[in-house]
Amino acid sequence: MSLNQLTVHELHEKLKEREITAVELTESIYARIDEVEPSVKGYLTLTKTLALEQASNADVGFQNGNEMPPLAGIPIAIKDVICTKDVRTTCASKILSNFKPPYDATVMAKLQKQNAVMIGKTNMDEFAMGSSTENSAYQITHNPWDLETIPGGSSGGSAAVVAADSAICSLGSDTGGSIRQPAALCGVVGMKPTYGRISRYGLIAFASSLDQIGPFTKDVTDCALVLNAICGKDPLDSTSVDVPVPDFTESLINDVQGLRIGVPKEYFAEGLDAEVAELVHSAIQKLEQLGASLEEISLPHTDFAIATYYIIAPAEASANLARYDGVRYGYRTEEPVDLIDMYKKTRTEGFGQEVKRRIMLGTFALSAGYQDAYYRKAQKVRTLIKSDFDAAFEKVDVIATPTSPTPAFKIGERTADPLQMYLCDVMTTPASHAGLPGISVPCGYVKSGLPVGLQLLTPPFDEETLLRTAYTYQQNTDHHLKRPIIAKTEGKI
Ligand code: GLN
Repeated sequence: MSLNQLTVHELHEKLKEREITAVELTESIYARIDEVEPSVKGYLTLTKTLALEQASNADVGFQNGNEMPPLAGIPIAIKDVICTKDVRTTCASKILSNFKPPYDATVMAKLQKQNAVMIGKTNMDEFAMGSSTENSAYQITHNPWDLETIPGGSSGGSAAVVAADSAICSLGSDTGGSIRQPAALCGVVGMKPTYGRISRYGLIAFASSLDQIGPFTKDVTDCALVLNAICGKDPLDSTSVDVPVPDFTESLINDVQGLRIGVPKEYFAEGLDAEVAELVHSAIQKLEQLGASLEEISLPHTDFAIATYYIIAPAEASANLARYDGVRYGYRTEEPVDLIDMYKKTRTEGFGQEVKRRIMLGTFALSAGYQDAYYRKAQKVRTLIKSDFDAAFEKVDVIATPTSPTPAFKIGERTADPLQMYLCDVMTTPASHAGLPGISVPCGYVKSGLPVGLQLLTPPFDEETLLRTAYTYQQNTDHHLKRPIIAKTEGKI
């Protein structure tokens, strides 16, 4: 196996034993990038000079025999929604095409503290709005398992580069499913931690009551290691919560004896692909064989999650995106006739179709006369969705569902129909409304070879049970070990 195929924990051992250097490891990632990026197109920006510098700094630590943290020297890719000091951060939007943040997001500072190596910034749907990464203003990312299909979204680049072994792990963001869904579609592990678990200082805001940063990794152990590095209260983000951060590796226990797993009937209804249903059912049965008890549960307001999400998220987005006015930073139109014209043209030229659609939806939902009918109503329904989960967690410890109703679909298949695209989020948005942590783990492959994800959910701040369940499943199955064979396309797609 080449170095780029290994996990964080395997590589840490090799670095510690000085079998390899971080510089060698980083070089092996860039060699892999040269090989597969023409086909996958997961990166928007590569930061090789900086990465090699960070890698040699990590090497100095290892050579001096220092006790180095688990992410020291580990190549990590960062979704382009996370601010990186002096490194272009576009959010995959034309409006931020020339934006170099003057500061680092808190998660970046935390990664640097561990001496991690940033490889580059990954492609995404513009402003994280989308489920296929086709809404990027720059390029389409291809799913490494089948280059004609989408990698999911909005963190499609971050998922694809981990699946393609062109990063060891990555960070993404999840507002309504943007970590869990692409993780499922690319056959990797993706976790959205509890709302408030990780600082969002320096995360470019989409919908502030939902946004959360989280990791993509090749296995559950790596997920715990990345979480350890990035969680915790941050004085720079008042929405981060001051709860103790456990050592998440202590939750890597291969045992689900006595765990009660709820299987919500609403998630196995019409619209769920038959092969996905079968694979997820057998994954849940596997957990039962391993000692968990299963219980059918009901989350009766599930059906309203999408409609509610597509009021609340656009409403918040319309407010958050008001700052892109061409005045302070980002793109500005060339020759405006006056100030109003400058605003109008800057935004017309700078934002893509989907972003404009969301701004219009959100502005409408918040406008005088409609606010009660839409926005306030949506907030009430959100509370009902959360109450469903509260009631369910009285009876069960974990909830298990499919992550996505279908495997990856063909590029272009849903771009003409926004509603079809929105339906991708049917299984992920409910937990987002409730602020719950969720993980997607690979649970098999459909006949065409595309991966399928099992979604596990727990009560807020119980990432430990989530990791324990996912780890037990992984230790007793081998779906996460399968790698895609990436066809050579010479950049023709
Ligand atoms: N697909 C959802 C949307 O388009 C979720 C995106 C996200 O989680 N950032 O809004």
